[in-house]
Formats: sequence, C-alpha cells, structure tokens
Amino acid sequence: MAKIIGINGGTFDPIHFGHLRPALEVLMALGLEEVKFIPSYNPVHRGQPSVSANHRCEMVSLAIQRQPKFSLDRIEVEREGESYTIDTLLALKEKHTNTTLVLMMGTDAFANFHQWHQWQKILEIVNLVVMKRPSCQKNYSKESKQILKQHKVSKITAGFGQIIELSVTQLDLSATALRGFLQKNEAVDYLMPASVVKYIKQHNLYSE
Ligand code: ATP
Repeated sequence: MAKIIGINGGTFDPIHFGHLRPALEVLMALGLEEVKFIPSYNPVHRGQPSVSANHRCEMVSLAIQRQPKFSLDRIEVEREGESYTIDTLLALKEKHTNTTLVLMMGTDAFANFHQWHQWQKILEIVNLVVMKRPSCQKNYSKESKQILKQHKVSKITAGFGQIIELSVTQLDLSATALRGFLQKNEAVDYLMPASVVKYIKQHNLYSE
C-alpha cells in the first residue's frame, strides 16, 4: 500500500495534549508516514481565533518539535481567506502523488460532517479517521450517521472514500477550557507542552 499521510487541521488556539496524544496514537495505529498539523487561517464554521495565525503556528511548531513524524504545514495560513478543507486537500493531493491522505478529526467535528463544504468531494480524494473525543457522545447528525454507514471500514485498504473510527486515549481537554484558565490567570501546566506554556507567557497571549 502507498504511504499514508495524516492531515490534522484545527484552530489550535492554543494547541494542547488533546490534539497531540490522539494524533500520535493515530500515527501508530495506522502506520502513518507523517502527520501534518494545519492551522486554519479563518475557520468557516466558527468564530475568529483569539490570537493571530502566526502565534498559533509558532505554538504548533514548538509543540511538535520532538516528534520527527509531526510537521507544521502553513498552507491555509499562507492562502489566507476562508479556510476550506477541500481546497487544502486538493493542493496536498497534487503535491503528494502516490500517497494516501487520511483526514483526521474528532467525533465533534464528524458530528456535522455533512455540512462541510463539498464533503462528497473530500471523500473522493481522502479517507477519514474519526477519533473518539470525550464529552462528545456520538451525537452525529442523521446525515453523518448515514455517511458513516456507507463508508465505514475497520481497516484502511483504499486510497480514498473510507472512514475508520479509532478509540484514542480520552483527554477531556479543549482549547476553550484552556483559554478560560489563561484569562483567569490560572495554571495550564501539564495540559499542554511546557514550551507552549512558556510561549504564551512570553507573549502575554489569552490574558484579558
Ligand atoms: P476549541 O475549544 O477552541 O473549539 P478544540 O480544543 O476543540 O478548540 P480545535 O483546534 O478546534 O480544538 O480542534 C482541532 C481538531 O482536534 C478537531 O478535529 C477536534 O475534534 C480535535 N480535538 C480537539 N481536542 C480534542 C481532544 N481532547 N480529544 C480528541 N480530539 C480533539
């Protein structure tokens, strides 16, 4: 089978262990060659991030430093404008020929996958891995349930069109909760890499 690259998009506002540990577990479980962390510039389904794309990229870069198979891809930040996953995947597909791409997302993201821009086209070029996320019971929309039923596999065997659900270590963390701690000047140690905590302090990010 061709080499497989994981695509891990998000706001990463800020990045935390709930992003990093599941990504490592997917990397190991699927034997991925690489996991690309792709901070979105202007996420379409939610409000604007709290800090600049540049700060978010710097934090990702610091967080992944010690894992050689993790990389930062600034593709959405460099493209600017609204960050549509389909545009990113089409560009990556063109760059990485003879490679299978696997789009990684938590259950909360898959819950409304049917509302993603051109979701059908997404499944025509990549596979999906849905990582089980705590506090997000499977409240998949009716449409997302149907999509899962049609595409679900227990092992990835094709270059696109397959969806695999993976259980990962449950870390009940969210960037929203972390921003809340930071605003109140509470400690965020041991919830994210120390290098990221240091960067946030140095640049006085997320304070009121
Ligand atoms: P926010 O609280 O600002 O919404 P977030 O912590 O949910 O942020 P995002 O950057 O929006 O993080 O999420 C990027 C991806 O990481 C999504 O697919 C999301 O499902 C996944 N993810 C985030 N936190 C976890 C977690 N604790 N466990 C598993 N997956 C997670």
